Amino acid sequence: MRNVVKTFVNSAGEFTALRGVDLDLEGGEFVSLIGKSGSGKSTLLNMLTGIDHPTSGEVLVNGVDIHALSESKRSQWRGRNLGVVFQFFQLLPTLNLLENVMLPMDYLGAIEIDQRPKRALELLDMVGLRDQAQQLPRAVSRGQQQGAAIARALANDAPILVADEPTGNLDSRSAGHIYDLFEELSREGKTIIMVTHDPSLTQRTSRTLYISDGQLVDETIAQALPYLSHAALQELERRVELLHFGPRETILVPGQVVEYLYLIKKGQVEVRRSALEGKVDATLSANETFGEQELFEGVTASASYIASPAEGATLLALPRRDFHWLLGESPLTADYLMNKIHSEAED
Ligand code: ADP
Ligand code: MG
Repeated sequence: MRNVVKTFVNSAGEFTALRGVDLDLEGGEFVSLIGKSGSGKSTLLNMLTGIDHPTSGEVLVNGVDIHALSESKRSQWRGRNLGVVFQFFQLLPTLNLLENVMLPMDYLGAIEIDQRPKRALELLDMVGLRDQAQQLPRAVSRGQQQGAAIARALANDAPILVADEPTGNLDSRSAGHIYDLFEELSREGKTIIMVTHDPSLTQRTSRTLYISDGQLVDETIAQALPYLSHAALQELERRVELLHFGPRETILVPGQVVEYLYLIKKGQVEVRRSALEGKVDATLSANETFGEQELFEGVTASASYIASPAEGATLLALPRRDFHWLLGESPLTADYLMNKIHSEAED
C-alpha cells in the first residue's frame, strides 16, 4: 500500500478513515492487525481486497494495481487470489455447508464441475465438518459456521487469506480452534492478514500491525510501550533515532553513561553482567527495551549490551531528554517501565 488515503463523504460531512497508509507485506507472513474500534481496520482490509476504493494512493498485490482494474476484472482477480472471512460468517442461509463452500468454485470456474463436491468435502473435513456437510448454517454452532466460512475462503486455493475479526462472535474455545486452523494454513504457506481486537492473540502471528486514528504506527514502539496515546506514539516516532549494530558489536559497556532508551526493532541483544568470558545473562529480542533502569536511576550502564553474534541488532534509540519528556507525557508508561524494572529485579 502506497500512501493510501480513504475519505468517506456523506450527508454528515467528510471523514478520513485512512490517513496515508504505507505498508509492505511479504508472501507467507501471518499478520495480525489491531487497533481500537473505529481506527480504520476494516477500511484498510477493504482496500486490500478491492471491496472498497482508496480516495488516493495505490494498492499493489503481486505487482497488480488492483484499483486500476475494471470491476469485473477485479472480482475475477479477487476470486483467484483472495479468500475473505468475515466477522458474521456471511454464509447463505438456504444453502447447506457443502453448497456454501462450492459457491466460489462455481463463480470462478477454475475447478472442474465434477471435482467441486469432492474438493468442498475435503475442505469441510479439514475444518472438522465432514459430518455436517449437508446441514444448513443455522443447524450448526457459530464456531462451526465460521469453520465453514474458512473452508469457503479456501475453495479456490487462493494464496492470500484476509479475515476481519473472524473470532469476534465466538466463545474463546471456538476462537482457539479457528486460530489453530489459521496457524496450520500459515505453515502450509498461505499469506494471512487478520484483524483482531484481542492483543493476546497477536502472539500467535508472525507480525503485528497497529493502527490508530487511520495511521499505522511503529510496530516496535507500540509493542514495547503499550500505553501511549496516539499523539504520544507519533511524537515518539519523530524523536527516535535508528541505529544499526553488526554481529558482536558493543552497544554499551559497564560504567558507560547511558544516553538513550533503546527499543529493539530487529535482531537480538545479549546482556552480560559479569566480565566472565562467554556468560550471557539474558538475551533481549524484538520489541524489548533496555536502558530504562539506568535512565531512571541516573546511573551508568550496569552490564554490557552486545549485538547478537548471529544477526546483530537494529535499535530505536530515544535520547535521554526525550525519555524524560515521555515520562511526563505518559504516567502510565512511566509506571509500566518502573514495574518492569522491579519485576526484573525479582527474577
Ligand atoms: P474498525 O474496523 O477499526 O472498527 P472502520 O474501518 O470500520 O473501523 O471505520 C473507521 C472509521 O471510518 C470509523 O470512524 C467509521 O465510522 C468510519 N466509516 C467507516 N465506513 C464508513 C462509511 N461508509 N461512511 C462514513 N464513515 C465510515
Ligand atoms: Mg471493523
